[in-house]
Amino acid sequence: MSEKKNLRSLSKEDLQGVFRDWGEPNFRSDQVYDWIWAKGVKSIEEMRNIPKQIIARLDEIYFIRPIAFDNIQKSSDGTIKNAVLLRDGLIVESVLIPTDKRITACVSSQVGCSLNCAFCATAKLKRMRNLDPDEIYDQVLSIHNQGIQNFGRPLTNIVFMGMGEPLMNYQNVLTAIKKITEPEGLNFSPRRITLSTVGLPKMIKRLADDKVKFNLAVSLHSARDDIRSAVMPINDSAPIAELTESLDYWYKMTRRKITFEYVVWKGINDKAEDIKALVGLCKRIPSKVNLIEYNAIGDDRFQQADEKTIDAYQFALNQNGVSVNVRKSRGKDIDAACGQLANKSDIAISKEI
Ligand code: SAH
Repeated sequence: MSEKKNLRSLSKEDLQGVFRDWGEPNFRSDQVYDWIWAKGVKSIEEMRNIPKQIIARLDEIYFIRPIAFDNIQKSSDGTIKNAVLLRDGLIVESVLIPTDKRITACVSSQVGCSLNCAFCATAKLKRMRNLDPDEIYDQVLSIHNQGIQNFGRPLTNIVFMGMGEPLMNYQNVLTAIKKITEPEGLNFSPRRITLSTVGLPKMIKRLADDKVKFNLAVSLHSARDDIRSAVMPINDSAPIAELTESLDYWYKMTRRKITFEYVVWKGINDKAEDIKALVGLCKRIPSKVNLIEYNAIGDDRFQQADEKTIDAYQFALNQNGVSVNVRKSRGKDIDAACGQLANKSDIAISKEI
């Protein structure tokens, strides 16, 4: 049993190769590919138009083991947080965020995280492993179905803002996005997908070289090295100058604006110099700013700045022609908001399956 391989770890070409070796026609592998991705079957036996002997042969060598929603919590604002049970018993979280116009899936890319951002709950969990492409794909498909069941509406947006750093699981995240966007998969528009990163310059350049069509968001939180390093240790090895250079390259190659995610904390990044540094960076890199509300994770060092400070940021950015959004949090009452994933659940504790 444990010797079996994951059928969804095969590329389209791999699968065609298997069918060629078995002397089966090409269209059979297309049918199987359609079942395992677009139709999202939960087991090999469910592929109805595939001959019995092929099903038996596939079943001998491969498995399909989809994720399962282990615990579903609903917020008073409609947000739904799912504990996602993976095939080895580890758990991550994914969130459905409904608004008037959108149904957004916020998905995880790693079990835990290794980056240690001081203000993020996920950082308290050590990184256990990367998610496989099918585990990422399943979160999207399941939330799409959840949107239909709960709101009668399909998924409109996907954000890689759940647990983990997507660019530290580069290949699997890109493979998942390929399946999500290709016509043989979910045929979802890449323009409606946003990958959020802590800001890894080498990987940002690689995205640009790979000519990806989705949007890029960078968790900035400060445009000053000393301040940013104090809250995001990654800034020591990837300081702002290097990050800026990679974002220049991204814009040169893609011609698409970057979104900076930014939380303003009392006494940390609430001074005139902080605003000036952010404005300077935004004038240099074609970008927009999302000022995100801070979601408490039980650490007294971090307090959301007052409204006056947020207004000052907004005013200065607007004055300089930078578009800025002030984002209210969703799902706070169930710890489903940004940075709260894993706050109070027994995430990353292995379950027997
Ligand atoms: N590793 C990726 C994606 C996960 S975090 C990244 O760093 O971008 C998703 C977003 O939530 C990031 O912008 C992150 O900085 C932000 N975030 C983390 N903790 C938060 C908190 N407690 N309150 C508000 N936003 C937070």
